[in-house]
This record gives sequence, C-alpha cells and structure tokens, in this order.
Amino acid sequence: MLEPKRGAIAAVPCSDNQNTSIQLVELEQESVARAVSDVSGRLAHYFATEVIDGPQLAVDLEMVEARYNTLAAGFRGADIFYAIKANPSVEILDRVAALGGYFDCASMGEIDLVLSRGVSPSRISFGNTIKKESAIRKAFDCGVRLFSFDSEGELEKLARSAPGASVFCRILAENDSADWPLSRKFGCSVKMAGDLLIEADRLGLDAYGVSFHVGSQQKNPRAWREALTDVAKLMQRLALSGVGLRMINLGGGMPARYDNGETDLLEYGAVVMAAVREQFGDRTLDLIIEPGRGLVADAGIIQAEVVLVSKKDDSDAPRWVYLDIGKFNGLAETMDEAIRYQIETIRSGEAVPAVLAGPTCDSVDVMYEKNPYPLPLDLKVGDKVWILGTGAYTTTYSSVAFNGLPPLASVCI
Ligand SMILES: *Cc1c(COP(=O)(O)O)cnc(C)c1O
Repeated sequence: MLEPKRGAIAAVPCSDNQNTSIQLVELEQESVARAVSDVSGRLAHYFATEVIDGPQLAVDLEMVEARYNTLAAGFRGADIFYAIKANPSVEILDRVAALGGYFDCASMGEIDLVLSRGVSPSRISFGNTIKKESAIRKAFDCGVRLFSFDSEGELEKLARSAPGASVFCRILAENDSADWPLSRKFGCSVKMAGDLLIEADRLGLDAYGVSFHVGSQQKNPRAWREALTDVAKLMQRLALSGVGLRMINLGGGMPARYDNGETDLLEYGAVVMAAVREQFGDRTLDLIIEPGRGLVADAGIIQAEVVLVSKKDDSDAPRWVYLDIGKFNGLAETMDEAIRYQIETIRSGEAVPAVLAGPTCDSVDVMYEKNPYPLPLDLKVGDKVWILGTGAYTTTYSSVAFNGLPPLASVCI
C-alpha cells in the first residue's frame, strides 16, 4: 500500500497518463485510516487528496449541521446558543446562523466576529460572568441585550452600562462527572442568586432567568437534575418576592465521542428535557442550551505527522512518539490527560503503549504519559496520523508562535 504523501499529484511519476494519476488518487484515499472514512467520507477524501504541510484541522460542516439538528431534536423547544469559543471559524458561524441558531459570546472580540457575519445582536448572549465594563457598554451600544452575571460587582456594572437589559444569574453546579470540570470559577450560591436577581429587578434590569453549566464533556445527562431542583426552588422564592423569572439557561457540557464511545445526543437531550418537565411541568419558560464541544468536536479531524520515535535507553519501555502537534499548537486539552483523543494511523502492527509528546522544547508538552497511548509498533517517522474529535478547543487554544511553530491551521469543508 502507498503511504500517505503530500498529495496525489506529487506522487504521479513522470508520465502524462491520466489513468496512472487516477489510480494513484484511489490508492492515496485507501491510505487514509479507515476510521477517518467511518467518521466522515468527506474528511477522508479531503485528507487523501490535499497537499497538507504541517498539522491541520479540517471540519466537516455537514457533520456540524447534523449535530445541530440532533441537538435541536433532543433538546426540543430550547434555543441553541453556540458557545463560539469552541471553534469560531466563520464557516461554522455562518452555518449555525443559517440553521437559525443563536450565539454565546465571551468577549467583545467574539461579539464583533458574530456581528460581522450579519447576525442580529438580538441573537447574541454576552455569557461571560467576568466582563470589563467598557465591553458591556460597547456590546450594549451594538444592540446586545442579554447578559450574564454571578456577583454583585458585575450586576452593578450591568445596571450602569446596560440599563434595562435582560440579565441571568449563573449558579454553582456540581461538575463531578465531567471530564473537563469548570470548578468554582463561575456561579454563586442559590441563596445569593436569589438576592442578586431581586436586586437586578430593583436596579431597573430585566431579571430574566438563571443559568448553570454542569461541566464540559459531561457524560451523565442526569447531572442536570440537581441543578434544576435548585432552579425550581429559586424560582419559587423569587415569585413570592414578585420577581417572575422566565428563562433557564441549561448551559453546555454535551459530550463528544473521543475514545470512550459515542453518546446518543437525541436520547441524552431527552433525559435532560424530562428532568426539566419533572420540575416545571408545562410552565412556559424560555429554554437555552449553549453547546460548544457537543456541536463541533466530532466534526473535526487533525492530520498530524510523526516527527520522531525513540527510546531513552535500548532497554527502555515504552517508546516515545513525538508528533508535530502538541499542547501548544492545538492539543491543550490533553492537560492532566483530561481529554483522550482517538488517534488513527495506517499501520497495522501490534498496538503497544507509547508516550505521546509534542514537538516543542517545553517538557510539559507531553500529551499521554501517565496513561500511555497504544500505537502500532511499525509506526515510523514521517507517517501521517489522524486525531479524531478535534473540532472543538484546538485552534483557539493554539499559541501564536511558541518555538516558532505557527498556530494550528484549519479549514472547513
Ligand atoms: C464554554 C461554555 C460553554 C460551552 O461548553 P461545552 O462544554 O463546550 O459545551 C457554554 N456556556 C458557557 C457559559 C461557557 O463558558
């Protein structure tokens, strides 16, 4: 079998025979790992036919659309606010906008980007609970009317710089079973949220609702139940004080596949929505979900290359496999080995655990060492590898030029 090369054309020998060229293209396609075709025939074709220099992410927009539709069906009745920090490629933003989606933005930079695609400010939520007042003012001037907060200090900024806007308070939620927990950085206690929403109303803001986030890559849909019980209690208490909340923002957290198997998001959404109905019956409430990872991770695959296979001593095991991608140019979420990607090669040798490391001169640039990654023993320098499920939190976490390495390149197809 031909090994993956820098595109089929370069592999054509000195001949103008069309058939040879077509044959070579077919062989090239065969040499992209089967698992890539299983995920997306479009991505497999792309990697088989494009000349790609350096690590590169490719995202299949049709898969993003399919995911969007699955989330919309699973979480029926909820508006989808795409958390654009996961992957702000304009092609993805355009696709989400065309599907009728909304956008969760964390900074003025993200808001400007979404507005530049012709999206109405009424479809944007400024969902970061930690905002500079100047950014709040600018967003408000641009027409954004939906803001989050989780503290008195932030509420005061909103009252001053976004008068009359709709605001929602983020409460602390249990993140136990999430692979990428968001800890206690965001949110406040239910008691404090109640006090702050009453205060918001008094300050002339529209006390619109409550939000929470159960932690990213949350594989357990029942994680929402506890938070929803808290929200129900909070709403009851506020109703007694004459403040009628009208919205619940269920946050993100919907899982991608990675190496632990596909989650059926249709079923997953149904479990969460059943928990909503259990607490709120058929009360009319606006519901929001904010998927990032769940919408785009599985739609992306990175093609990278083996730079070195080595041992520290002849008797040493396991091998070290160094790629041209690591923690600083796309795989930051391997921090603490939290996210474990599925990696595919074209080799069929016995899979033996290897330490997997990145190309930079920083010793933290090691992806899997505590839990080494099984890779074929016949894997060689120059081999292409495909890292699956990398559509989210890769390009945005890539450094500008650490060790002179360019930021992760990406395309949408
Ligand atoms: C990051 C973030 C999300 C998206 O989280 P995922 O786990 O990627 O779905 C949603 N909402 C807020 C407020 C966020 O900060």
